[in-house]
Amino acid sequence: TTLHKYNFSAGPAILPEAVLQTAQAEMLDYNGTGTSVMTMSHRSDAFLSILHHAELDLRQLLHIPDNYKVLFMQGGASAQFNMVVMNLANGFKRVDSVVSGNWSRIAHSQMGKLSDAEIHLAAHGGDLYNYTDVPAPETWDVDPDSAFVHYCINETVHGLQYRNIPKPDGLPPIVCDMSSEILSRPINVADFGLIYAGAQKNIGPSGATIVIIREDLLERCSDRIPDVWNYHSHIIRQGMYNTPATYPIYISGLVFRWLQANGGVEQMQAINTMKAETLYSAIDNSNGFYINNVKEHARSYMNVIFHTPEKELDKLFVQQANAHGLCTLQGYKSMGGMRASIYNAMPLQGVEALVSFMQEFQRRYG
Ligand code: PMP
Repeated sequence: TTLHKYNFSAGPAILPEAVLQTAQAEMLDYNGTGTSVMTMSHRSDAFLSILHHAELDLRQLLHIPDNYKVLFMQGGASAQFNMVVMNLANGFKRVDSVVSGNWSRIAHSQMGKLSDAEIHLAAHGGDLYNYTDVPAPETWDVDPDSAFVHYCINETVHGLQYRNIPKPDGLPPIVCDMSSEILSRPINVADFGLIYAGAQKNIGPSGATIVIIREDLLERCSDRIPDVWNYHSHIIRQGMYNTPATYPIYISGLVFRWLQANGGVEQMQAINTMKAETLYSAIDNSNGFYINNVKEHARSYMNVIFHTPEKELDKLFVQQANAHGLCTLQGYKSMGGMRASIYNAMPLQGVEALVSFMQEFQRRYG
């Protein structure tokens, strides 16, 4: 028998096997067109239908209200750090920014570029490079007249998550980076002004970025913004201002259908909770051999970070886990240690296999 491999990469990440099988079956001939999705025109009926259904299915999964627009963009989540400011801060003096880990820190450092608005640090979650808690929304220093407040709901590198989702009361429109948790649990889209997420973690391959934007905010997009970075220009051309990331959108659409067939985000939340609790209790019950320093209420259910008391042991853990078919468990380059990304497509069995390996490793080296 071949070893079953589980991919714990933070992204590009694991995809449902059933989705990859469908893609394989349709690779040379999509739906009787005689063409691969990879080689068909983005203006063909077949692709327009793929795009249309991907949007409808995403709307259904997240219960996106009618006054929100959906875009599949390019440039990754990183491009959104600037696009949100370029488009939504016109005529505003201030943008509020919450820094709770690596990605919101980078967003904060980028948002002021090409903008006259002050990027105000509304809250900071810890010392530089050492984040172990999310700053509570009650402590955010936010001006209701700011263009918006930006935060990252799940910090992929530091393994931190706003498990209690901040509510919009008294806040300006909320702009949220959901890259590493979108579709992992129900959210109330109406609480947000704009949501963005790179696809390559919980949705599909890299190359597509989801943007969900409240319609009235589009009035802020000035004509002076080049069309390619202008949400309004993309919306009025139905997401076809330029060539979209056709193949990643197609795979994302297959993932949306897989989610629908598997109980939607409500069911994902139930399984994701079980997976995360299984892993955190293995860490907490290891008598200090495995360590996670994140405050319990802020522990991410998507990216679980941990380390042993020794750097050399961490290295050995990653190596031996890999040999056991438990792949890509090394922590982010600046963090070291281990990180298990357990997105929607990671089955409970993958987490159980990891936990058995952790126990075995501790017996041998603990
Ligand atoms: N935000 C978060 C939360 C992320 O995890 C990442 C990627 N790891 C990014 C932003 C940057 O995304 P991209 O590489 O798509 O620009």
